[in-house]
Amino acid sequence: MKFVLDTSALFSMQDLPPGEAHATPGVIAELRKYEDPRLRFWDDLLKVSSPTEAALRKVREAAARTGDDARLSPTDLEVLALTVDLGATLLTDDYSIQNLARVMGLKYRGVGMKEIKETLTWKYRCVGCRKEWDKNYPDCPVCGSALRSVRSRK
Ligand SMILES: [Zn+2]
Repeated sequence: MKFVLDTSALFSMQDLPPGEAHATPGVIAELRKYEDPRLRFWDDLLKVSSPTEAALRKVREAAARTGDDARLSPTDLEVLALTVDLGATLLTDDYSIQNLARVMGLKYRGVGMKEIKETLTWKYRCVGCRKEWDKNYPDCPVCGSALRSVRSRK
């Protein structure tokens, strides 16, 4: 079985899952940044590869639709895209990544925490006039105040 692991999964795991374990260059860079000592043992076992442009584009489009794009880092997008490329199961404890995996019909599993059971969407509420927007504008189109993301259920 093929797995793609993101940084949150690698942080909360004691051992790599049985089968093929994949990660992206961005994930490895994050582990290096936190000087994770386990990286020494995992270096040989983790296969590191970059996703294709086509898969990245698919992920970015889906993220823009759900509103997860404001919450996902380039590394998160990379992880999702590699999961698309490999047809793998994604291991992650990040809710925004799980949410997008679910929307895109990818297989995913939580590691330390429970996975989400319903699709979340995000709205952007103005801190001034309280109006809710579907898109994350730089500031409120009505009154110019800042927008904050809020969870909404479909
Ligand atoms: Zn406003």
